[in-house]
Amino acid sequence: MIVVMKRGTSESTVADMVRRIEDMGLKAHVIQGTERTVIAAVGEKRDGERETLESYDEVDQVVPILAPYKVASLETKPEPTVVAARDLKIGGGYVGVIAGPCSVESEEQILTVARQVKAAGAAGLRGGAFKPRTSPYAFQGLKEEGLKLLAMAREETGLAVVTEVMTPHHVDLVAEYTDVLQIGARNMQNYHLLQAVGESRKPVLLKRGASATMDEFLLAAEYILDQGNTQVALCERGIRTFETHTRFTLPLASVAYLHERTHLPVVIDPSHGTGIASLVPPMCTAAVAAGADGLIIEVHPDPHKALSDGAQSLTPEAFAETMEQCRKVAVALDKTF
Ligand code: PEP
Ligand code: MN
Repeated sequence: MIVVMKRGTSESTVADMVRRIEDMGLKAHVIQGTERTVIAAVGEKRDGERETLESYDEVDQVVPILAPYKVASLETKPEPTVVAARDLKIGGGYVGVIAGPCSVESEEQILTVARQVKAAGAAGLRGGAFKPRTSPYAFQGLKEEGLKLLAMAREETGLAVVTEVMTPHHVDLVAEYTDVLQIGARNMQNYHLLQAVGESRKPVLLKRGASATMDEFLLAAEYILDQGNTQVALCERGIRTFETHTRFTLPLASVAYLHERTHLPVVIDPSHGTGIASLVPPMCTAAVAAGADGLIIEVHPDPHKALSDGAQSLTPEAFAETMEQCRKVAVALDKTF
């Protein structure tokens, strides 16, 4: 339920209301809107609780949340959420670009590409240190050494680091070196991991599972929000269909659909979404045109030599050109790029 407080309610009155909601065995998420404060009261439904909450003078109205996800729902919070880390801003009129290699491979590779993507206008640096690979024989990432190299690149460039965390046991370790925790498609329904990143309070980039429905995607985000972490960005990275020409099928309609359902920002990953470098630039401009709040793009100083996902990685030159095109589209839509 959404408990809508009357206009001008003081902080202490809101705190009292939170206590009452918690005494009823519900979780209370306070959402400070521009107009007024609302409290999302979530938990198991019991008879008469709506009437009880409505009986307090300071409460304007109590509205049931119809969507299966509660805190993620636009019903709970109509204002868009801005996910921010260093200069990276995603949502609420900002289009944030995260770029970098699929995997961190060496000091030279990550520092070179970090400088290149920064010069082209990216605000975030991606790079996997712990890699979820389909085959156990494929390159698994540099692990902690990779995290250290990312931190070094951040130190020099000021870019916000975005990297994947694969298990709850690694959340503290990865959080030490990164600005945004990435949850990979394969882990979208790893509920213990979602709860662990929810507890960490670091911004989270949650990727859609390749076979997940929109409701499953939003309920996965709800696990993170339910722990009190409000900094969640959703990432559409393509789904598995009958089509084999592209690595996955990239549904850009997800952007518009999600914007009708949730206040969380939506990032598009055209690299994994297509698997083919030449298709990435047009999908980037299309994503911005469709209203995407961010892009995550694989860029490698020398894609032919990449240890993972070289075929879908842009050269630094192609990335710079793509940024120019995206900037034009963003400006036409009055977005800050
Ligand atoms: C990645 O970003 O390198 C990655 C592994 O992506 P996904 O989880 O979407 O497959
Ligand atoms: Mn990759």
